[in-house]
Amino acid sequence: MAVPTIVVHGGAGRVAAANQETAVAGVREAARRGHEALRRGGCEAAAIAAVRWLEDAETFNAGRGACMTEDGRFEVDAGIMRSRDLRSGAVAAVRDLADPILVAQAVMEHGRHCLLVGEGAEAFARARGVGRFGRDGLWTAKAQARYDEATAGRSGAVGQADTVGAVAIDADGHLCAAGSTGGVLLKAHGRVGDSPLLGAGLYAHPALGAACATGVGEAIMTHVASYAALLAATRGLAPDEAAAEVCARVATFEVGAERATCGIIMLTPRGEVGIAHASPHMSWAVARGEGEPDLRAALRRDPG
Ligand code: ASP
Repeated sequence: MAVPTIVVHGGAGRVAAANQETAVAGVREAARRGHEALRRGGCEAAAIAAVRWLEDAETFNAGRGACMTEDGRFEVDAGIMRSRDLRSGAVAAVRDLADPILVAQAVMEHGRHCLLVGEGAEAFARARGVGRFGRDGLWTAKAQARYDEATAGRSGAVGQADTVGAVAIDADGHLCAAGSTGGVLLKAHGRVGDSPLLGAGLYAHPALGAACATGVGEAIMTHVASYAALLAATRGLAPDEAAAEVCARVATFEVGAERATCGIIMLTPRGEVGIAHASPHMSWAVARGEGEPDLRAALRRDPG
């Protein structure tokens, strides 16, 4: 038995001052909705409810509001894993898909494969009538402005926050991790980040817990960040320390002249929460409790 808990993140990186309030309100609302679903439908329903809401919220780099590739397309990644039977599903580099977490869930339910990419993922989704396709469902003026600024060389493409993810534990002690992203701004056509990759972007296991990572995908893959954080907690580190240790390791990876950003949210099998980031900001929220949840949300793990 565990205290039903959901932890949500809205991306590790730098959040512009004008977007900070919206980002915190967004993850708070996602956690509230996730917790409601947690009580009714368990950990998987909770993680999906939170991530789906964030995909539709245009502040975040997932679904509506996703960032663009270097040639101005939308190509999204998403993944989900649950501890109960170690089943998982993911999609990557799928064009113009506004709700990729639902297609990832369909891949998991179908059960034959864990990860489908590009046109194959789209064909799978269309055959099952799941997923909303169309550029209009993702395009926002903000994403266009970011793309225009970055291609004109007026702003950097690295370290922009806003990817989304959630980990949840239900009253039965089952765990689920899920994440969704447009990836990194100006990525190459066909580039896949960590978010759909087991061990790197997410992981859930009955004896280890559940974790979800955000930040520079190449650095997170290199350090298998989600799995590494869960393992670190089994060595006796408090969950916050385990997450922080791995974030610090990931941040030693350099992208151009900058250090990689990384954020990790996690839950142990007993429902203890771990949150850490090596980045200026990471919006996060926790909703925890048997009935009405205790709800906390902020833009940084540490004050200051
Ligand atoms: N990890 C994501 C990626 O590399 C981006 C992010 O979390 O901001 O695709």
